[in-house]
Amino acid sequence: MSEKKGRFGIHGGQYIPETLMNAVIELEKAYEFYKHDKQFNDELTELLNEYANRPSNLYYAEKLSRELGGAKIYLKREDLNHTGSHKINNVLGQALLAKKMGKTRLIAETGAGQHGVATATAAALMNMECVVFMGEEDTKRQALNVYRMKLLGADVIPVKSGTATLKDAVSETMREWTSRIADTHYCLGSVMGPHPFPTIVRDFQAVISRESRAQILEKEGRLPDAVIACVGGGSNAIGSFYHYIKDDGVKLIGCEAAGRGIDTFETAATVNTGRLGIFHGMKSYFCQDEYGQIAPVYSISAGLDYPGIGPEHAYLHDTGRAEYVPVTDDEAVNAFEYLSRTEGIIPAIESAHAVAYAMKLAPKMDKDKIIIITISGRGDKDCAAIARYRGVDIHE
Ligand SMILES: *Cc1c(COP(=O)(O)O)cnc(C)c1O
Repeated sequence: MSEKKGRFGIHGGQYIPETLMNAVIELEKAYEFYKHDKQFNDELTELLNEYANRPSNLYYAEKLSRELGGAKIYLKREDLNHTGSHKINNVLGQALLAKKMGKTRLIAETGAGQHGVATATAAALMNMECVVFMGEEDTKRQALNVYRMKLLGADVIPVKSGTATLKDAVSETMREWTSRIADTHYCLGSVMGPHPFPTIVRDFQAVISRESRAQILEKEGRLPDAVIACVGGGSNAIGSFYHYIKDDGVKLIGCEAAGRGIDTFETAATVNTGRLGIFHGMKSYFCQDEYGQIAPVYSISAGLDYPGIGPEHAYLHDTGRAEYVPVTDDEAVNAFEYLSRTEGIIPAIESAHAVAYAMKLAPKMDKDKIIIITISGRGDKDCAAIARYRGVDIHE
């Protein structure tokens, strides 16, 4: 089995009830087979290219580079994918895998609703049933995405337990999977949960760095000096890093949501404020209170306010191969506005965390250095919230 049975150093593993073991074993076996299957890979590539609009552009942000006055900055445009973010890369892979396994029903957790919308989209395309679990609080905050999922034919189930947010939705989806394994695949949304999910999701998102590596070699004739991406669970970041991990000259930088600051309780910066723990089937770093309970987390960005981080990131942090830096709400909102103004590209507020760090780093680098920032999604969904942050009320 791969990765020493799903371990990344001391992280990862399968900390799950016996009732889920059969499901993850079945999934692992199927994945080990299909990942080497030519027909599966051809079908997935066709879906990614014809349906999701891949390969995504690697865009030279000339004006941004000039204004910041340092390194050359390229943007990996995952915002141009169908459904507006990197989430579709993973979802198309898992939906196709589920279909090959004979499953007819997809279940998924969602926080902001982006992963739920992507899953509902794939289910519609592939003629599968779809049920999305979403914290009740989130269904109120993200009413438009609830409507989108329903429009796409999915059932949306509000989860009332705990804080009625993302972590509770994950727990509820795992419970549902336990009770209905025969026809159902759990389409998990990030590089987290029990093995084999962190590996499966990483492999499906690795298309980002597979493309960007070839694109930068073609455009510049060399590898970048730094790759920067935002980190919630960590799927767009690991996908952006993966094909550079062995290239020691390429700095890998993950940007965590610091919320109102890592010295406050209103933060979601897991590596910077969390501790080792076990939750949602994996060992990794988690934001915890003094008793070791999962702490409530906060960020202006609904896509980044998860209290944990994927186990492979925890390992890359331990070994020092990647660096994880905190970015506050304020810095992200400034970057959201700055990229919109300078390049005419409105990034997702999640991606704006990566842009914010690049704005600090680029001016300190020589003009012959190269940075790639992953723009994980587009920012249309965030405009009303950012306006509100600036004291302007607009109707969604
Ligand atoms: C969901 C989401 C994220 C965070 O998820 P990761 O698994 O950390 O990538 C980041 N950006 C966008 C646009 C998202 O929708």
